Amino acid sequence: MILKTQAASTEPTPAVTRAAAILRAGGLVAFPTETVYGLGAVATDARAVARIFEAKERPHFDPLIVHLGSADWLDRYVASVPPEARRLMERFWPGPLTLVLPKCEDIPDIVTSGLPTVAVRMPAHPVAHALITAVGLPLAAPSANRFGQLSPTTAQAVEEELGSRVDLIVDGGPTQLGIESTIVALGETGPRLLRPGPITMEELCECLGREVMVANGPVATPESPGMLLRHYAPRTPLRVLDSRAITPLPPGRRVGLLAFRSAPPSHGFSAVETLSATGDLREAAANLFAALRRLDAAGVEEIIAEPVPETGLGNAIMDRLRKAAAPRA
Ligand code: AMP
Ligand code: MG
Repeated sequence: MILKTQAASTEPTPAVTRAAAILRAGGLVAFPTETVYGLGAVATDARAVARIFEAKERPHFDPLIVHLGSADWLDRYVASVPPEARRLMERFWPGPLTLVLPKCEDIPDIVTSGLPTVAVRMPAHPVAHALITAVGLPLAAPSANRFGQLSPTTAQAVEEELGSRVDLIVDGGPTQLGIESTIVALGETGPRLLRPGPITMEELCECLGREVMVANGPVATPESPGMLLRHYAPRTPLRVLDSRAITPLPPGRRVGLLAFRSAPPSHGFSAVETLSATGDLREAAANLFAALRRLDAAGVEEIIAEPVPETGLGNAIMDRLRKAAAPRA
């Protein structure tokens, strides 16, 4: 069931109050964050969290991000907060930055896939914030899609992905950023970027005043499953192809184009989506998953995606496109 709420409301609206009651009773609620829609359960309730894995058909080796109502909650759920984590939190929380820190006992092993660390963030979306505050407990909330598929940026996309597997979908309109949070691990070896996202490498380095390592590239058993080779993928095969290599299609082929700024004229594409006519990377990120979803639904045999410039947010967009293009297992 979908219940609408006001996207800007920081107060508990009827939809949020209803959602909070469902969550406290061990249920699953999909809700908007500034990145994508999350599929939430109370993080300290191992049975409720198990339902997230079932609904998403998510493998148990893939740990969940825990969403907090305030940075003050950290002390209850993480064992220690290194000074660099504090600095990042002061600058980027609430917001799309997830920090991987040593965990406390209150976080069940199912949340962290048995890892000694837990990924935490404080979302900036007013509805997410109102919901977590109304529950009074942290929410484990991965993206509200089936495992490996495109993340949902609207309530309708959640409905298509999960339908009756979720007890309630809180509809706060389309998400603003459209791409999953940046993930940074802070261990003894210094800060490492586990997943590129809306907070860019440049911003992280500038805040910490030093270099941030990029965790080793895609692997089979990832330290962070956002690093899986194939992820965030439409059902239709996708190829990233430089604009200059895009030539007119032979007749009879049904191909969709994901253009960055504008589509080349008369190339015979069956469906075309443009990420940002003005070449704005923020707009492109916000449109990415919905555009891929529409191309996926257009009945094409292949999707060709144009690369975007790999600066700032462009790194996160290209990370998602490369993962969508990776061969199926
Ligand atoms: P999502 O499905 O977008 O919520 O993805 C959650 C991601 O957070 C996982 O796929 C992991 O990449 C990452 N993550 C969560 N917990 C940890 C952890 N303890 N260590 C490393 N990465 C984590
Ligand atoms: Mg996900």
